[in-house]
Amino acid sequence: MDALSLFYQQLSAWVITPVANQFLDIFNFNGRFGILFLCASYGVAYGLFRFRKQRGLTDARTFWQFIGGSQVNLHRSALLDYRYYFVRAILKVALVLPIVHLVDPYILRSGDYQAFFSNLWGARPRLGEGLSLALLYGLGVFLVKDFVHYWLHRVFHSRWLWAFHKVHHSAPVLVPATASRLHFVEKIVEKLGLTAGVGLFAGGFWYACGGEVSRYTLFGVTYLVFIFNSLAANLRHTHVWLSFGPVVEHVLNSPAQHQIHHSDAPRHFNRNFGINLSLWDWMFGTLYVTRSQPEVLRFGTGEQDHHRYLTVYSLIVTPFVETARKLLATFPYRNPRATMPPMPAITDEVERQAAKERP
Ligand SMILES: [Zn+2]
Ligand SMILES: [Zn+2]
Repeated sequence: MDALSLFYQQLSAWVITPVANQFLDIFNFNGRFGILFLCASYGVAYGLFRFRKQRGLTDARTFWQFIGGSQVNLHRSALLDYRYYFVRAILKVALVLPIVHLVDPYILRSGDYQAFFSNLWGARPRLGEGLSLALLYGLGVFLVKDFVHYWLHRVFHSRWLWAFHKVHHSAPVLVPATASRLHFVEKIVEKLGLTAGVGLFAGGFWYACGGEVSRYTLFGVTYLVFIFNSLAANLRHTHVWLSFGPVVEHVLNSPAQHQIHHSDAPRHFNRNFGINLSLWDWMFGTLYVTRSQPEVLRFGTGEQDHHRYLTVYSLIVTPFVETARKLLATFPYRNPRATMPPMPAITDEVERQAAKERP
């Protein structure tokens, strides 16, 4: 094989195929950032625009202005998010998947838990697999994933992991692609955490049912994920204020609630960690509910960071630099020589003495 075809093979494996797949992902139902879900979200936004326009509740003259216009959607930060969406595909094959595969064998799986429970309490009779069981199992997977997500999100707001999650919060404007502005370290922890959580739940559920159960899906996606993604989930990362009202927001996380999570006002700090459900925020004391009247918000992590996260390189490298600086500030490096007795100053007298002692 000549050098050129070898180069093309590598380029295809590490860059062309992942980037092409990432582009094609826009046309399927796997991620929130699918064309169907984007259309549904902007359809809701258009309804809101008409509603507010008729009542004189918005100054926007056109729908484009209502969703932020070029100031938001073509902002330097938004353009970075569009680029980073594709760079993430390369990071996924180069770093995320290899590291996840490395740790994967050490994570307990559903089979391990099934065997453990069977040894403990004996085998259970097999339940007939029906629609209700598939719906129940799908609901469980959804709840477990959302719960694990909530706690991982909280953990990433802690002192030692904040630098990595700050990448997501550093965006001064929000566009749907900002949801993909996640550092690969966070992505690795998320994948491992979800595998562990779902493994434990599936093991317990399947043990109780006496065997494996399939989750109920819609277009190949867990049905509740499909339903939640259809409910304007992409508006979470936009400047379109959509509140579900203080009562519903105790359970369901609205776009306005996630915008509050991105606010740089201290009164909004560490609020609304939930992804689909805000039930966890309510349960664990981090809930902030909104009303139909929009709040004036400024997104990002403060002026000083607006210039620090403007390139793909800075999104990937800055968290490591910040964490290293924090480590050095907490555990300062001490030179072992510093504990030795001080060296005598080289004076003329010392030099003369040394000269005398030389053979
Ligand atoms: Zn956050
Ligand atoms: Zn966000």
